[in-house]
Amino acid sequence: MSVQPALEWQSAQVIGIKVETSRTKSLTLALPKWMPHRPGQHYDVRLTAPDGYRAERSYSAASEPERIGELELTVERIDDGEVSPYLDDVVVPGDRLEVRGPIGGYFVWDVSLGGPLLLVCGGSGVVPLMAMLRHRAAQHAPIPARLLYSCRSEDEVIYRTELDRLIESDGLLEVVLTFTRVAPPGWTGYRRRIDQAMLDEVAGPLGNDVRSYVCGPTLLVEAVSDALVGMGLPPERIRTERFGPTGS
Ligand SMILES: Cc1cc2nc3c(=O)[nH]c(=O)nc-3n(C[C@H](O)[C@H](O)[C@H](O)COP(=O)(O)OP(=O)(O)OC[C@H]3O[C@@H](n4cnc5c(N)ncnc54)[C@H](O)[C@@H]3O)c2cc1C
Repeated sequence: MSVQPALEWQSAQVIGIKVETSRTKSLTLALPKWMPHRPGQHYDVRLTAPDGYRAERSYSAASEPERIGELELTVERIDDGEVSPYLDDVVVPGDRLEVRGPIGGYFVWDVSLGGPLLLVCGGSGVVPLMAMLRHRAAQHAPIPARLLYSCRSEDEVIYRTELDRLIESDGLLEVVLTFTRVAPPGWTGYRRRIDQAMLDEVAGPLGNDVRSYVCGPTLLVEAVSDALVGMGLPPERIRTERFGPTGS
């Protein structure tokens, strides 16, 4: 029986590492059996210790499918974690990692689905949403989009420079940040967790036909999706992905 290409493990070479924040790095991988993913899909990464012990975790594709042959993963270090500290602190360019993917058919968006697009995230939940924004930009799609991104503090904002650049060149894209612990000096924007009032202000103007993608810690995802349903948005247009452990 032949294995579907996406479910076959392949040995990818790390060809670049970019520091995103003090806790987050992006790894660029060259894949021998690369295939285009749908923005929002993820890959599994498998580490094998010398004694044969294996650990496997999922990481969303951060790159857009237009970037042929390469895959970017962005990994936030969880200090007591098994896999993320290895990917962030030990892996160097030239190393090889076992990966399989792309995986997932529910939390996906591409320009053929249209918009308007509402993207809501906390922490590393921004990663699959960035793949959607990068794809939207690569396709020059005139689809209104808003990203509402919750971070503890300014130094934890992943992709900050690229997001600023995207907004400058794209009148249909808005990025709204909210800081839950420390806001930068002079900050006049939101400084609290995402709540109903914030969603009314950010999502309301996009109308009821909006396609929503919500990603991050479980509590954020549940609170946001409940609020969006409460606003009257059709549940089948609200897609969610939970990254952290249940209850976080
Ligand atoms: C579909 C999917 C896509 C994902 N994409 C990404 C991605 O693009 N980037 C990314 O950084 N992560 C992503 N994750 C999370 C990732 O798979 C791992 O769970 C994460 O890297 C922690 O793994 P670990 O081995 O370091 O920690 P573990 O050894 O699994 O856990 C160590 C401790 O940290 C807690 N913990 C685990 N995960 C989190 C978390 N996310 N936040 C807070 N505490 C946690 C655990 O409960 C445990 O107490 C994704 C998860 C899923 C399900």
